[in-house]
Amino acid sequence: MSVIVFAENSEGLFKKSTLEAVFYAHELGKLVQQNCIAISIGQVDEVQLKMLATYGADQIISFNQTETNTFNAELYAALFANTAKNSNAKHIVFANTYTGKLIAPRVAGILNAAMASGVISLPNLDNGFVVKRTVFSGKAIADVELNAQVKLISIAPNTFTIFEVNKSASIEKLESTIGTEIAKTKSIELSKQVGKIALTEAELVVSAGRGMKGPEHWGMIEELADLLGAATACSKPVSDMHWRPHSEHVGQTGITIKPNLYIAIGISGAIQHLAGVSSSKVIVAINKDPEAPFFKAADYGIVGDAFEVLPQLIEAAKSIQS
Ligand SMILES: Cc1cc2nc3c(=O)[nH]c(=O)nc-3n(C[C@H](O)[C@H](O)[C@H](O)COP(=O)(O)OP(=O)(O)OC[C@H]3O[C@@H](n4cnc5c(N)ncnc54)[C@H](O)[C@@H]3O)c2cc1C
Repeated sequence: MSVIVFAENSEGLFKKSTLEAVFYAHELGKLVQQNCIAISIGQVDEVQLKMLATYGADQIISFNQTETNTFNAELYAALFANTAKNSNAKHIVFANTYTGKLIAPRVAGILNAAMASGVISLPNLDNGFVVKRTVFSGKAIADVELNAQVKLISIAPNTFTIFEVNKSASIEKLESTIGTEIAKTKSIELSKQVGKIALTEAELVVSAGRGMKGPEHWGMIEELADLLGAATACSKPVSDMHWRPHSEHVGQTGITIKPNLYIAIGISGAIQHLAGVSSSKVIVAINKDPEAPFFKAADYGIVGDAFEVLPQLIEAAKSIQS
């Protein structure tokens, strides 16, 4: 028996969230005394596949054919579940990413598994199999017991620190036995934003709110973000007023992010905004109102006018680069 982990790739590259899932599966394997098998579906080269061993996979299974190279949640779930069943797996790990959220519940359905998503801890095995997960937009933590034979854990990205384990894993290349006709949906066209750092993957985020007064002032936000190699984000009213695209809206009704650094400029820090950003490792708030609620959630605060502070930050970022 093995712990099986889904190794999600993005255009042939494994993301940080995938390596976190593999490392988690390796650690879980140590707890339940099983080895760790990583399953990759799609076009991924050997160098990337070997990286899964670096973070704890004992065995790597790769499906890399034309039929499986285009993402389809139904096809991927059926193929993954079938492989897990053949390995008699009782512990399954996913990263709780957009892709993970599409596949993991389907796999749980096929395998009749108990599933917990957004998991932030390894299981406590003292009394059953109990994991911690965040609930109510991160404002509370629930202990959840998984009591079916097959247990599926979907881990919250950016929660687990990973270390190199450097195993020498075997790589097995298998052909999919699942026919593409099982898929009831088909992607016809994919249009992607190019040249921008994806907000969900960004380690650094520069975000701004209504305090910026209007879209014409976002040049400063973008300049600072470019200098830092950061993604840009915004509060809900800013996207509602079409100052910025909705894809940048973070918070309870927007995207949840956990970057290493979140710089919030001219954002009040309403609870609905904090719900999407409060797990960031370091939060810097810039606000002219010393009573702004964001200062209570921030690690560092600058009380000042954004239109005076931002040019200074930009100059400081430029001087570090030169
Ligand atoms: C059901 C529900 C869901 C919601 N979901 C979300 C969500 O997902 N995300 C979200 O962001 N909001 C959400 N909201 C809205 C949220 O409650 C706040 O209204 C919103 O976050 C406020 O946005 P803001 O901070 O940009 O604007 P404001 O509240 O107007 O705050 C602007 C801030 O900028 C400061 N400021 C002004 N001028 C300057 C200056 N020159 N320099 C520096 N600082 C300045 C002000 O002191 C103030 O603190 C939701 C609300 C509800 C009811």
